[in-house]
Amino acid sequence: MSNTSKLVGGSFLFAATPTKDVFIPEEFTQEQHMIFNTVKDFMLQEVHGLGIGRVASLDAEKDKALVLDIFKKASELGLSGVSIDEQFGGLGLDFNTSLYYTEGLALGFSFATTIGCQTSIGSLPIQWYGTEAQKAKYLPKIASGEHGCSYCLTEPGSGSDANSGKTRAVLNEAGTHYVLNGQKMWITNGGFAEIFTVFAKIGDDEKLSAFIVEKSFGGIEIGKEEKKMGIKASSTVPVYFMNCQVPVENLLGERGKGFNMALNILNSGRIKIAAGGVGGMKFGLEKMVRYATERIQFNKPIGDFGAMKQKIGRIASTAFALESGVYRVGADVDKKHDELKKAGSNYNDAKINAMREYAIECALLKVQGSEAMCNAADEAIQLFGGMGYSMETGVEMAYRDARITKIYEGTNEINRMLALAEFYKRAFVSKELNIGAAKSTIPSAIFQSLNPFGGSGLDREFGLVNNLKALFVILTGAAGNKLKSKLVDEQEIVMNLADILGLAFTAESAFLRIKKLNENSTTDKAQLAIKTKMAQLYLYDALDAARKAANNVLDSYASGAEKWALRKVCNILLPTYDINPKDTCRAIADDLLKRVG
Ligand SMILES: Cc1cc2nc3c(=O)[nH]c(=O)nc-3n(C[C@H](O)[C@H](O)[C@H](O)COP(=O)(O)OP(=O)(O)OC[C@H]3O[C@@H](n4cnc5c(N)ncnc54)[C@H](O)[C@@H]3O)c2cc1C
Repeated sequence: MSNTSKLVGGSFLFAATPTKDVFIPEEFTQEQHMIFNTVKDFMLQEVHGLGIGRVASLDAEKDKALVLDIFKKASELGLSGVSIDEQFGGLGLDFNTSLYYTEGLALGFSFATTIGCQTSIGSLPIQWYGTEAQKAKYLPKIASGEHGCSYCLTEPGSGSDANSGKTRAVLNEAGTHYVLNGQKMWITNGGFAEIFTVFAKIGDDEKLSAFIVEKSFGGIEIGKEEKKMGIKASSTVPVYFMNCQVPVENLLGERGKGFNMALNILNSGRIKIAAGGVGGMKFGLEKMVRYATERIQFNKPIGDFGAMKQKIGRIASTAFALESGVYRVGADVDKKHDELKKAGSNYNDAKINAMREYAIECALLKVQGSEAMCNAADEAIQLFGGMGYSMETGVEMAYRDARITKIYEGTNEINRMLALAEFYKRAFVSKELNIGAAKSTIPSAIFQSLNPFGGSGLDREFGLVNNLKALFVILTGAAGNKLKSKLVDEQEIVMNLADILGLAFTAESAFLRIKKLNENSTTDKAQLAIKTKMAQLYLYDALDAARKAANNVLDSYASGAEKWALRKVCNILLPTYDINPKDTCRAIADDLLKRVG
């Protein structure tokens, strides 16, 4: 299948992206900043405004009334309906703005999960797949927050293997209702939701379908709140369906298409986890930097110590790179949506297919965003010392809250596999990705690497980013060639390959942002210098991580002459990147410390 569009998910691997085609966060409009600031101010006032006592109340499992009170206030501000069309009472935000909104939500600790579920996996199934009648019936009350909503896919025996659920829907004799029986588990917002999107198999179907189920239908029992490690301001319950009568008109989308729908909703949820991770890291950094200027040890603020600067510098650099990747993809999803609409797709199909297009990037960003967020929360505790471990600062809560992001919306292992599987499908089955293009770029990548000091401006960095891409293509091709279909069972190799792919994408996004900022004459030069250091530090660490992953791949499957030759290629592609990580970290941290101090 040939594809003339430039908006092809995964194509970053084979095509150089011109800066004019890349969105960077510095391009957000006043209106978009206004949405972000509304969320941020709301969270500061409602969650942080009353000090640590309020934050602690949110963490107390019993205080669900407080969560519902904040939910009501957020909904009155319009925050429950951000992704719902205006005609149904929502704000109808484009996808990239909804990501920016999600970044702001991160300030709300785990209240973010409550409102995030309402605006994402809870409401998007109806928004994207509902008929006009279904949308008109359900969306206004979801947008206003009158009805909480939930997404019910997981079951006790069906987690990562989400298509294996046992919940069944049987058409009654009169043909008027599906009778639903089964148990769902870990259902976010389930404790107060009125509307449930339930995935179940009809009769003897092998594939899932989806249903809109109202609590008022009866035949639904909500189980006890789960006792969790974190995100305690978020309701998580099992939900039991016992002869629940669902009118036939509440079948959502086509029969048997539920699994595809479920996955596509998760694509959007995955990149939102990354956007939330960026928000969490930036907010955490602010707290870390402030504490580092205030806490005195050995007669100095701890921010004066290199060991602390190193933490601040690295978190800032990772947040910068991920932010570049998240909003690059968010804007591409919106552009793809417009392209599909122009080509004749209806609004809903365009929304759905635009999201599906970027499944690879969404999965990679979910993995990177959640892991970076967890690491940042851990480092924040370290910087706060004993106070980080105490419940008095909220930092240990952030650490507990962050941990779930590696598990839900598909575990990080599943997302790594998914990114690789989607790459293979697009490169070798549908041939949407022009893998032939690699034949011309890979030799030049190797040639360029022979001169590690060559080039001017950002040539060296883009050369190294291309090397990361070439490394992925070469190793994936070689491992695939040798192992053939057995590669899917060699998951350790798949994990490492997915990591290299993710590093290549995010490093490239960071440098495309720097390049575009360089091209813009109005860019603040001092800030650009710091941002460039952030991108460089990210690349330095990415090359290290890629080196380790590549060695793991080679040592796991290759042998003899093949291993020797590939090792040579890896060494050529991953030369020493000659920056001083200590000075780079210090420059980034000093800039942040200066701005707070
Ligand atoms: C707080 C919370 C909120 C949640 N909210 C919702 C919600 O609103 N709606 C909903 O439907 N679900 C929800 N979930 C469920 C969540 O999506 C699942 O927990 C997740 O998909 C993992 O499934 P599992 O817990 O059954 O783990 P399992 O699938 O049992 O996985 C256990 C481990 O095995 C690994 N594993 C599994 N299969 C493979 C494989 N093929 N290859 C390699 N490794 C594998 C996993 O990566 C993981 O490390 C929530 C979960 C939690 C904890």
